[in-house]
Amino acid sequence: MLDKVVIANRGEIALRVLRACHALGIKTVAVHSTVDRNLKHVGMADESVCIGPAPASDSYLNIPRIIAAAEVTDAEAIHPGYGFLSENADFAERVEKSGFVFIGPTADVIRLMGDKVEAIRAMKAAGVPCVPGSGGPLGDDPDENSRIARDIGYPVIIKAAGGGGGRGMRVVHTEPALHNAIGTTKAEAKAAFGNDMVYMEKFLENPRHVEVQVLADGQGNAIHLGERDCSMQRRHQKVVEEAPAPGITPAMREQIGSVCVEACIRIGYRGAGTFEFLFQDGHFYFIEMNTRIQVEHPVTELVTGIDLVREQLLIAGGEKLSIRQSDVVLRGHAIECRINAEDPDNFMPCPGMVTRFHAPGGPGVRVDTHIYDGYRIPPNYDSMIGKLIVHGADRAQAISRMRVALAEMVVDGIKTNIPLQGRIMADRGFQQGGMNIHYLEKRIAERKDKPIGL
Ligand code: ADP
Repeated sequence: MLDKVVIANRGEIALRVLRACHALGIKTVAVHSTVDRNLKHVGMADESVCIGPAPASDSYLNIPRIIAAAEVTDAEAIHPGYGFLSENADFAERVEKSGFVFIGPTADVIRLMGDKVEAIRAMKAAGVPCVPGSGGPLGDDPDENSRIARDIGYPVIIKAAGGGGGRGMRVVHTEPALHNAIGTTKAEAKAAFGNDMVYMEKFLENPRHVEVQVLADGQGNAIHLGERDCSMQRRHQKVVEEAPAPGITPAMREQIGSVCVEACIRIGYRGAGTFEFLFQDGHFYFIEMNTRIQVEHPVTELVTGIDLVREQLLIAGGEKLSIRQSDVVLRGHAIECRINAEDPDNFMPCPGMVTRFHAPGGPGVRVDTHIYDGYRIPPNYDSMIGKLIVHGADRAQAISRMRVALAEMVVDGIKTNIPLQGRIMADRGFQQGGMNIHYLEKRIAERKDKPIGL
């Protein structure tokens, strides 16, 4: 069992990790920037260290400062949360080389999954279904690239091997546009990611985003915990997530889940991870693996009853996975609404002082947030201020519980997207379930000219 953990993150996930540590009797060290002294978990941690000024590049992304914080507090391990350094292979490597445990997979596995071309190659070899594509980086021969595109069939999408966050992608509908698109994507990828390698995939026109949660101990044992549907997105950012995904049968779940488990064992995966798929016409297509805990992990926790962060900590402490696949039973339905400090109509961030906060409650309601009365949201970071998660016996009950909880939640002093989330829960299409990744944006656009829009 680990003795003391540095939480190399902020906000709700830092609090979530702190709670899991304390429940296991593990001591915690909060590291924070100068504007984050008043974060809720900083006051609750056993120790805290200021690691630099507000800009993330000087604090939460500053590797030497974080490792120094682990040294001065004599901690044993570092939990990276999500975002920031969580998928930075160099960070994982330096943590381990400095003698600490990185709570996540090995640096080699993070590196493999961070290169999308290599990740797809490894997943294909492991039997994971992938989007039909170039199967490798595109070269400079225009005739060869045209041939690849024709074989795949238009429309195609050009993607940067080092891309992330929905950037570095371009859709091409016809052959005359192909070579320009490759050239531009390469130039952009070089500027944004320092790597101009691009590859080509079939562009799926109306997919859903369905992802599979896994846990592996790096000692030959792995399980899957079913899937989540995260198709409600705006600008490639997830807005609402749910588990299980509507319309996925137990047989489909078992099939895709066991493929992911096999892949984990094959690549020597360790910790919690997520296989992201596009799902269209009954088929799964792998797009990438996230080698960390995800924002939306609570919906899986509510339907499985398994505490994923606790499992991460136990695995990092060297324990073998104690949960067998047959122990994983899905119960009911869970939905998560991300709560953002932003204008619900124009999506502009809205940092500032929370003058009054009332959390909703009742059966099946969970609130993961670091905000409190009088908390000032700094303008320097992501606008997500928390997550409202509900569990119901079925999807309809989960939706009605979410509607009540959203109506009950009070966040005064700033604007939030709570009204938008209320409109999504009331939307016929959402209530029907199984909408694709373009649905939410389409409905939001309709609001401008039709009264029925979101
Ligand atoms: P990132 O790492 O930037 O998030 P992903 O590969 O996960 O990149 O893709 C981000 C999003 O781009 C997907 O969720 C999907 O909306 C869209 N996308 C990516 N590849 C395809 C594809 N082959 N067809 C259709 N949409 C795609």
